[in-house]
Amino acid sequence: MNCEICGKPIYGKPITIEVDGAYLKVCDECAKYGKIVHEKRKFESKNENALKASRYQTEDEYELVDGYGRIIKEMREKMNLTQEELGRKIGIKPSLLAKIEQEKILPDYQTLRKIEFSLKVKLRK
Ligand SMILES: [Zn+2]
Repeated sequence: MNCEICGKPIYGKPITIEVDGAYLKVCDECAKYGKIVHEKRKFESKNENALKASRYQTEDEYELVDGYGRIIKEMREKMNLTQEELGRKIGIKPSLLAKIEQEKILPDYQTLRKIEFSLKVKLRK
């Protein structure tokens, strides 16, 4: 399929993002133009309104500091942990951690708390 923003073919799994309330399937590059929608959550609830409410609720609870990805990476390296080691510690895949460090995706609240706890940093405003 093709990216709904730039029109380039998407190799692998497209990323679903939300732009002004509309869902778009886009490539890696264009994911930055909206909020990434986690597919899993979408399938958990068929009720769009309930889904929206729950998503906004969790978003209201925290806001990440600027450069959170860089902070995570720096603190992790300071503690001599690889992405794999930290990922195992907090129970997420290293590839997911890599994306968080690149700020390609936002960690969910629980993951965020675990990262903060493991690295002894505060990532919320
Ligand atoms: Zn694109």
